[in-house]
Amino acid sequence: MGVIVTKFGGSSLADAHQFRKVHSIINSNPDRCYVVPSAPGKRNAEDYKITDLLYLCHAHVEQSVPCDDVYHIITQRYQRIIQELGLSLQLEPLLEEIKSKIIKGATADYTASRGEYLNGVILANYLGFDFIDAAEVIFFTKAGSFDAKRTQQVLSERLQKHSKAVIPGFYGSLPDGRIKTFSRGGSDISGAIVARGANACLYENWTDVSGFLMADPRIVQNPKPIAKITYRELRELSYMGATVLHEESIFPVRESGIPISIKNTNAPSDPGTLIVTDADPITRKGTITGIAGKKDFTVIIIEKALMNTELGFGRRILGILENNEISFEHLPSGIDSLSVVISDSQLDGKLDIILEEIRQQCKPDSIEITPDMALVATVGRGMAYTAGVSAKLFSALGSGNINIRMIDQGSSEINIIIGVGNSDFEKAIQTIYNAFVV
Ligand code: ASP
Repeated sequence: MGVIVTKFGGSSLADAHQFRKVHSIINSNPDRCYVVPSAPGKRNAEDYKITDLLYLCHAHVEQSVPCDDVYHIITQRYQRIIQELGLSLQLEPLLEEIKSKIIKGATADYTASRGEYLNGVILANYLGFDFIDAAEVIFFTKAGSFDAKRTQQVLSERLQKHSKAVIPGFYGSLPDGRIKTFSRGGSDISGAIVARGANACLYENWTDVSGFLMADPRIVQNPKPIAKITYRELRELSYMGATVLHEESIFPVRESGIPISIKNTNAPSDPGTLIVTDADPITRKGTITGIAGKKDFTVIIIEKALMNTELGFGRRILGILENNEISFEHLPSGIDSLSVVISDSQLDGKLDIILEEIRQQCKPDSIEITPDMALVATVGRGMAYTAGVSAKLFSALGSGNINIRMIDQGSSEINIIIGVGNSDFEKAIQTIYNAFVV
């Protein structure tokens, strides 16, 4: 096999016990050459994530409040890991240097990034791997967006010089050398970038769940795990609220066709979920891959006779939304009607203004508002080109007495989205699951 890049999340590296599990995972396959760690996460529900404590230190300094107590907790967490693993690593000089920079007013990004940096130093020492500072190989542009081209060039050259290395997640550097982080949970992105830079055959993302489930376990009891999913299906499901992986982390590996394997550090023999390229052959026709959904949407249904012949009607509606800084979710349309589905968080008190603007600028025959709607997406490549899938879906919902307020099937046929009342949300998901899976 080729090179494997492994990323471990915060809970996989929360204490010495977890570090040991990571050690045995890495050692059980010599192809696991490059490791991307997060900062130590929570050891239990009441615990703190190191990243949150570092942000807290920064906030203290900004308010001219001493951060010694908080920094002491951070120091102790790392020292305890080193001690319990029996490492001879001397971390004090680094811890002192970082503390003095934070006290002198280091940026929030620098401060937060030290969680991954320190964990990377410890993990490299423990595994006997080289340490590569992410600031030297992951770059952002002056404007602060990820610089894929420069990163790919420098990172791939650098990795060739190290057969085994740890590269901390979450951060990189700006052209002037200052540290910049990705958004929260961004070590997933770093892992994907390293996988691309290493031209890996696999990107393993180790976390505390055994991959994706077919539905939310808070709604469906013991849902089946998803063994294999394509990038596109995953994008549809994550967009609808199923999250295990940082959304943006998919793009670097998707481009180069590197599969992602989601695995559980606490149950390494569980198969997990494999995310594969969209070109992967469809083997299970007539089946679905997963169900996800979100509550709290409002639909604005706009009707006007001969709307289809009126030039610029749709553009005017979308222009009104844009001017009011509202992004819409779906836009199902008929010959003389157009519906706009908007999440309530986007609408946020602006409904009356946009209705008024639509009336003035578009002169519709009628506008109807349907509030309190939930969207449920049934996703699966197995649904495409298969007769009877939607019939099965709608008859199950009908038998369950669930009133469908909206239907939107994208042209790709891998996703059927229905709108139901908020109060029918859970029941709709359970009913679809029962119809296709049980
Ligand atoms: N430690 C960072 C956070 O808590 C990044 C990560 O874990 O991926 O957001």
